[in-house]
Amino acid sequence: VTDWQGKHVTVAGLGVSGIPAAKVLHGLGAVVTVVNDGDDERSRAQAAELAALGITVRLGDGATLPEGTELIVTAPGWKPDKPLFAAAAAADVPVWGDVELAWRLRGPDAAPWLAVTGTNGKTTTVQMLASILKAAGLRTAAVGNIGVSLLDAVLGEERYDVLAVELSSYQLHWAPSLRAHSAAVLNLAPDHLDWHGSMEAYAADKGRIYEGNRVACVYNLADKATEDLVREADVEEGCRAVGFTLGTPGPSQLGVVEGILVDRAFVENRQKNAQELAEVSDVNPPAPHNVANALAAAALARAFGVPAAAVRDGLRAFTPDAHRIAHVADVDGVAYVDDSKATNTHAAEASLAAYESIVWIAGGLAKGATFDELVAKSAKRLRGVVLIGADRALIREALVRHAPEVPVVDLDRTDTGAMLAAVREARGLAREGDTVLLAPACASMDMFANYNKRGDAFAEAVRELGASA
Ligand code: ADP
Repeated sequence: VTDWQGKHVTVAGLGVSGIPAAKVLHGLGAVVTVVNDGDDERSRAQAAELAALGITVRLGDGATLPEGTELIVTAPGWKPDKPLFAAAAAADVPVWGDVELAWRLRGPDAAPWLAVTGTNGKTTTVQMLASILKAAGLRTAAVGNIGVSLLDAVLGEERYDVLAVELSSYQLHWAPSLRAHSAAVLNLAPDHLDWHGSMEAYAADKGRIYEGNRVACVYNLADKATEDLVREADVEEGCRAVGFTLGTPGPSQLGVVEGILVDRAFVENRQKNAQELAEVSDVNPPAPHNVANALAAAALARAFGVPAAAVRDGLRAFTPDAHRIAHVADVDGVAYVDDSKATNTHAAEASLAAYESIVWIAGGLAKGATFDELVAKSAKRLRGVVLIGADRALIREALVRHAPEVPVVDLDRTDTGAMLAAVREARGLAREGDTVLLAPACASMDMFANYNKRGDAFAEAVRELGASA
């Protein structure tokens, strides 16, 4: 246990992780200095609040290491190549993220962590996991990169039996001593490479989640990179590698047999070699990628000893957050589905794979992505495409290369009214039984404040369409 009294700690970054971290450390008796790059109205207000508590805040200078710093606690988003960290390395000052701080501050009887990371599906999987744990009568919460902060979960009044923890690659980068009970990497596709520097560095940071696992390292059989990370991890003796697959599971795997989710890793009855958990139709929505999320959540819950019936009850009780493959309405026999959260090509590929005949609404900010693979894989499902947003030309060019026969409407618009026009065009292309799918494969900020607003605009447009139908 660290003695915090009088320890000089620098908190890097005001914001959702920095402010609570500064307050907690100050409360423990540390001498806290917050450094922040920005110096705007909002950060001045936040600084005033902290200053009133006796915390020093330096605005507009996130680069200089304050004299006497013994530890840095950084916001997870701060890039490792920042000058502050070079100065810290030169002075042998350790750097922790908010997750590392929570991990170190947890009490001796703290709840174990079931941890989830991956490029896509983290939030959904952690929520499914929490739902399953609750169905088993356990006191739990979905925490981390979602909802409740880890510091609150670890230091708050509420007592937990186990925590369902979502971790981003940034948080993992700054969490060197974290040791989960069990952990899952759902999938690995290029994302945030500007931050991590390379795909190798990104994968290595994700792989940190397996380090020191006690019971199970859960990986995706369809994504070899996740299996490689398990192999490279240094785990506790007796910790098992547990794969999940949408196909028939082998020993030590969870999978699907004739529409049933089946566990062959944690079998209660020794006479049997498989345990039935739930039906695919218990998963909401039962799209393939989401069944994979359910299997990962089930694997972690089973590693914690949760009975099969609770997996089924928990999956049935789960409802996905808004804008994740949300069915908005049927109009004239055409289904309208909002997956505005598909902000990268890997996510959009998963949602396109969930439908047979699609009019696809896509486009926005590409964040350096290329669209050839996505379009080539999805071409046979496309009835038509409507393009909106700043980087739509990149998608149009990929369509010309890989799906030249698919009709494309390029709206050439980035104003907010473009969504209504896009939905009208989509309706013109769709036939009965088709799905009009908003899965932009791009970020939303060229047209909307965030992906929620983009999805809301889509739903609003569909309602207008329905009213005039
Ligand atoms: P995250 O928290 O990792 O961003 P979410 O659960 O919020 O993930 O899902 C984000 C989007 O990613 C969803 O809207 C869906 O399009 C896609 N998605 C969800 N699960 C998967 C998966 N297992 N594989 C690929 N894409 C997925």
